[in-house]
Amino acid sequence: MEILISCMDRRLNAYLDSLNSGNTILLRNAGANVSGLSYTLSELLRDENIKSIKVVTHTDCGAMKTVSKVLKGELKLSEIATNTLVKKFTDAGTKDPRELENINTQIQKSELEKISKERGIKGSVELLDISKIDMPKEQGEHKMALMNPSSLKYGQILNKEEMFNTYVIQSKSLEEKMVDIEIATKVLGIKKGEIIALYASEYRGVEADLKKLKLNPLLNGIEINARRL
Ligand SMILES: [Zn+2]
Repeated sequence: MEILISCMDRRLNAYLDSLNSGNTILLRNAGANVSGLSYTLSELLRDENIKSIKVVTHTDCGAMKTVSKVLKGELKLSEIATNTLVKKFTDAGTKDPRELENINTQIQKSELEKISKERGIKGSVELLDISKIDMPKEQGEHKMALMNPSSLKYGQILNKEEMFNTYVIQSKSLEEKMVDIEIATKVLGIKKGEIIALYASEYRGVEADLKKLKLNPLLNGIEINARRL
């Protein structure tokens, strides 16, 4: 088994399916941020069958545009989002989103090296040129889907339209997802979300997460539902 960590960006869904051998567990958050997934990774890495971790960052990344805006003082995020996503770039010496993408790739590489050393598993990092991906021009209203890590392909979870308009936030706890939910709602202006139970064993957890999200002020004015696959 391998773990594939990438950005929640909707444009990556089909591409990530093409990288998924069926033995690939997908994790996604804002900016393919390894340190933002430390709980999820520590849980998954208990499984000795996991032999490698691959990280795919990408160009034209909304998360890096967000970091750039925060560094320039044009945007303020919550303390937890600032600490998780922005803090490591404060000494980067640049506020330019394109340069931040390269720096992000280097940061993820060194995060991965730490894990590789500790656990004795292989790690690799790729910066994907997103302009190389074919995308239909208009895909309707954007939304977000929250789900647990899984080796299911997005083509099995999302319909054709959703494949292009859905930001996928994929980690093991609602707490880890909150930073990405904040970016999706506050920065990307997403108004619709869905929590998807991929397996029957997840039904109860998904119902509990839905309850918590409905009470969270961050989700005020956001339409949020739960769905079973
Ligand atoms: Zn991105």
